Amino acid sequence: MPAGRFAPSPSGELHVGNLRTALLAWLFARSTGREFLLRVEDLDRARAGAEAEQLRDLAAIGLDWDGDVVRQTDRLAGFDAAFGRLSDAGLLYECFCSRRDIAEAPRAPHAAPGSYPGTCRALSEAERADRRRTRPAAWRLRAEAEEFTVTDALAGAYTGVVDDFVIRRNDGTFAYNFAVVVDDALQGVDQVVRGDDLLPSTPRQAYLAGLLGVPLPEYAHVPLVLNAAGQRLAKRDGAVTLADLSAPRTVDAVEYDAVTAARVRDVLLASLGLPQGPLAQAVDAFDPAALPREPWVLDSPSATFASARTR
Ligand code: GLU
Repeated sequence: MPAGRFAPSPSGELHVGNLRTALLAWLFARSTGREFLLRVEDLDRARAGAEAEQLRDLAAIGLDWDGDVVRQTDRLAGFDAAFGRLSDAGLLYECFCSRRDIAEAPRAPHAAPGSYPGTCRALSEAERADRRRTRPAAWRLRAEAEEFTVTDALAGAYTGVVDDFVIRRNDGTFAYNFAVVVDDALQGVDQVVRGDDLLPSTPRQAYLAGLLGVPLPEYAHVPLVLNAAGQRLAKRDGAVTLADLSAPRTVDAVEYDAVTAARVRDVLLASLGLPQGPLAQAVDAFDPAALPREPWVLDSPSATFASARTR
């Protein structure tokens, strides 16, 4: 069964920007007859209790999902197997660089900013043995491409950097760019909808999918929600989680009533040009081609989500 998914990192409560991305992932999946899967990306950045809060809030705005929630930490065997395949194919090498080593390394004039300069790619076995004594190794991909092009439902053809990116960190944790590809393949995900901050990572992920011989999903990278300063919305912007909004509050001397999850759902739907109310109507009306292509600027969350009565 083809499937879409939402894959939050359980580092804290979801804010309305995260909820809007989840709503979009759900709409893309449901409007195309797909299953919708939830995956908790808990390889790192997990905070106790955050997963339960996130699931509660997704359900509160009307999202449902198929099957059990999958946690990455329950699937380490799948990562080990894929890692073994890359290793057996000679596609991995040990890297002993610190962040500082990478920042200070000489690079070719045409090297993409931030790309790995290849310092540890050609170490001899004796050099590696020597370095293992001072620092545990991370594992990098021996990439044979410098860039790769993906097709995105909203961005069209997108070409981005592929470098020798980290597959496994030197604390043993599998890196996001690797885990996401393995997880999506193991779960049969053929539609990846997520925030467009991840578009620059997508060429690396698609290139890796090719090396692992797994099918490429369809991609749709959706615009983010920004704060008044034009930065990605964050918890510090205030009154941006369902829990914050569910309490009456005073902001800039204006009193605001508690906001229900249904109201949040409706404001998010309106921001997408979709009919408000229970999500069945939004599924029928959903047309990716008609989605806003610009970020949604939320300059005053309390005012934006205030119910019609208080406004
Ligand atoms: N866990 C990632 C995040 O919360 C998203 C991963 C993805 O959708 O590919 O930023």
